[in-house]
Amino acid sequence: MSRILIAEDEERIVSFLEKGLRAAGYTTLAVDDGVDALSLARDDSFDLLVLDLGLPGLDGQEVLRRMRARGERMPVIILTARAGVDDTVAGLEGGADDYVAKPFRFEELLARIRVRLRDAGSDEVTVLQSGDLSLDVRTRRALVDDRAVELTAREFALLETLMRHDGQVMSREQLLSHVWGYDFDPGSNVVDVYVRYLRKKLGSDIIVTVRGMGYRLDA
Ligand code: CA
Repeated sequence: MSRILIAEDEERIVSFLEKGLRAAGYTTLAVDDGVDALSLARDDSFDLLVLDLGLPGLDGQEVLRRMRARGERMPVIILTARAGVDDTVAGLEGGADDYVAKPFRFEELLARIRVRLRDAGSDEVTVLQSGDLSLDVRTRRALVDDRAVELTAREFALLETLMRHDGQVMSREQLLSHVWGYDFDPGSNVVDVYVRYLRKKLGSDIIVTVRGMGYRLDA
């Protein structure tokens, strides 16, 4: 099981990340300060670091520089509110492997984490299977009964989330947070709209509505 260190000082984002990453099967530890992040970011304790740039104590850029100078080689994914290209380039030159601009969707970060951990030699499942339904999260291909189905990025992310929780009821809030991100209006009906799209493409009985609770995959 991969261990992920999260260095982020915004509580809301930390809880969003921890919930999602634990549900995806990772072990997490979160720190809200750059000094703590630097002292904990050791290859023999963690497999990957999710690093916010704007941290108290020591800023993310400096944490990264010092840990690389010390010889830590774990993949680092930067979270940045600073959407400027200059910061991104500086981050990548400073030894980061990838970056995600805030606000971000959980599935987007998760996809990047998977790529980095796979590069680092982990052997995670890349094809999800459920009944006649098969989803390759690496090539982004969906097959129903060996027939290829074209899905948009959002449709794919929603289906992937349901497949990773196969047989479980997922509430609208859970699906919103997984697929649309933490900044999404909880009153939105976008989940229902996308479930309709998926039913149209995959077959109407593949996603079951559980009254008052949410949705469940039934492939
Ligand atoms: Ca911050």
